[in-house]
Amino acid sequence: MRVLITEDNGELASFIQEALKRAGYLSDIARSAGELKLNLKQLNYSAIILDLGLPDIDGTNVLKSLRNSSNTVPVLILTARGGVQDKINGLNLGADDYLVKPFVVDELIARLRALLRRPSNLSSNQLDKDNVALDVISRSVTVDGKNVIMGKTETAILEYLLRSPGLTVSKESLENNIYQSGYELTENALQVAVHRVRKKLKDSGAVPTITSIRGIGYIFK
Ligand code: CA
Repeated sequence: MRVLITEDNGELASFIQEALKRAGYLSDIARSAGELKLNLKQLNYSAIILDLGLPDIDGTNVLKSLRNSSNTVPVLILTARGGVQDKINGLNLGADDYLVKPFVVDELIARLRALLRRPSNLSSNQLDKDNVALDVISRSVTVDGKNVIMGKTETAILEYLLRSPGLTVSKESLENNIYQSGYELTENALQVAVHRVRKKLKDSGAVPTITSIRGIGYIFK
């Protein structure tokens, strides 16, 4: 799960990013509407946290143009504008939630989780395929109900694969979803991590397997 934080206050953006990280979400920071546009071109985000007071274009206009272009990514407005009319406007423009600054970071995370649960393929906190399950909140992985210890990167790989069962997942899209922007990737870091996930699943008696497709990526089925 990758979240785009749109916030021109660098300190606040980093603070939110840290909180998201602790909650198990990857995120990128856009400091302006222009940066948000660039980020959206490059990656698919599961949700956007949107400040309204941006230096270039007002956040309400950013939201308007997102929705006008049929982009349905969940948007949580995070702003100092706390008037009832501001909230109504924001929600009418297509925001999915609205939180007023100053805010309690735990509330932000809780609201974000609620947003991320809404998409059609997620009716609970659990993603599963055959006897493999991942709780997206507690980040615990089980095979046949028994816990399998996986590292953060491994869990993120498994989550991505569980969201695209039976589909070929390219190496690039997997990388983009797993590593923070700017993360220094050694050439075979992803390969090694996938290998570890594959082995742990196999050793635990998982039914689905991760198959490498030469030169393309992986398929989980
Ligand atoms: Ca601002």
